[in-house]
Parts: sequence; C-alpha cells; structure tokens
Amino acid sequence: MNLLLMGLPGAGKGTQAERISGKYDIPHISTGDMFRTAIKEGTPLGKKAKEYIDSGNLVPDEVTIGIVRERLSKDDCKKGFLLDGFPRTTAQAEALEQMLAEMERTVHFVLNIEVAREELMARLTGRRLCRDCGATYHVIFNSTNVEGICDKCSGELYQRDDDNEETVGTRLEVNINQQQPLLDFYQEKGYLCKIDGSQPIDMVFESIENILSNLSNSVVVSS
Ligand code: AMP
Repeated sequence: MNLLLMGLPGAGKGTQAERISGKYDIPHISTGDMFRTAIKEGTPLGKKAKEYIDSGNLVPDEVTIGIVRERLSKDDCKKGFLLDGFPRTTAQAEALEQMLAEMERTVHFVLNIEVAREELMARLTGRRLCRDCGATYHVIFNSTNVEGICDKCSGELYQRDDDNEETVGTRLEVNINQQQPLLDFYQEKGYLCKIDGSQPIDMVFESIENILSNLSNSVVVSS
C-alpha cells in the first residue's frame, strides 16, 4: 500500500505513522526526520537544510525531492511506503507523481489528519522528544512518569528548536498556505481521505484502520 500522510505540523502524523507502518509493514518515510538526522550528523544535506528548518521555512524543492527520490528507490519500499511530510508543495506532488510513474507505481490513498489551528499551537509548543529513541510526548496531554525522562528508554527529553512559539506560528502559516493546493490536487484525483485528528490517539488510529480496510476492499492495491 502506497500512502501519503498529510496534516499540519502537530496534527499527530508522527504518532499515527508509527502505528500505520507497524500494522501494514511498510517503511515510514518522514522528510522532517531525514533532515533532522542529517543535521545531527553534520552532513552536507544537514548543513543545507538547517537554516530553513530553524526559521520555520520549507527546505527548497530540489533538495527535498532529491532525498525522497533516493529513498523510494530503496528495496524496502517495494512492498509499499508511508510518506509523512512529503509532498508539501505542488511542485513536490507533481515530482512524486512523475517519479512513481517512472517506477510504474502510484499513490493509493492520501490520509489528511485535520486539527484546528489553536489546538495545533498548544500541541506543538508543549511537545517534547526523547534524545535517544525519538519517542514523542507532551507536557500536558501525554506527559512522562518522571518529568524530562523518557518512559520507554530513560533518555533525556528535549524541545525541538522549531517548536518555540514564534517558529511554530511561522510554520503553521507556511504550511496552511502550502497545504490547500495539495489537498485540492489529491481531492481531484479521488485519493483524499479526511480524518478527525482532534480525537484521542487510539480513536484516530481506529478511524485510519477503518478507512484503509474499507478502501482497500474497493480498490485493487498493488505496489
Ligand atoms: P516536520 O518534522 O515534518 O514538521 O518537518 C520539519 C521541517 O523540515 C519543516 O518545517 C521544513 O523546514 C522541513 N521539511 C520537512 N519536510 C519538508 C518538505 N516536504 N519540503 C520542504 N521542507 C520540509
């Protein structure tokens, strides 16, 4: 199954992606994670991406499209994939269509997790991540047993540089403006499925499972 996960920053894409990837046994490909890893490792890609990410802006299309093209050509994507955070611009969506067509493949479903802007602001500024295993928490909605320490691996929690209030405001504006044309693009193709992301995490996942099982029964899904 070839899936795209859409939604504004903080909509819960990362959390749901982990579950979808586990249940359907497809790799979770997050462009945001790929950039963060590159920055941590100090690679040329990381150096290029850092200034855009730290200021809440999008990394240029040619850079982002290049890393996705390379990732999708890997063997583990043959059985399907879950793209999270890509495409974010119409140019990226068109490039994705083209690269998949070259591989004689297609997108099957686009899942859009919908959450109101005010709630996203609260979710993002309170978000914390584990430095060691990458688990995501929230200071109010999903706190750890011991403040600042990961429940899963006892790693130290940190706040992403781009989760401060000013950068979050910019990120949301940038993403809202960029996302609408993409939603229109996929709606027109008939791929778009809307999910109410304001529900508790388990219920959001249940909605996704229901949608995927209903739709895959009605569509022939091949890689
Ligand atoms: P995310 O973890 O998806 O919120 O992404 C964090 C940051 O990485 C974004 O604010 C962008 O600066 C950059 N980024 C991630 N995905 C893309 C993309 N598809 N196009 C451009 N920039 C991206």
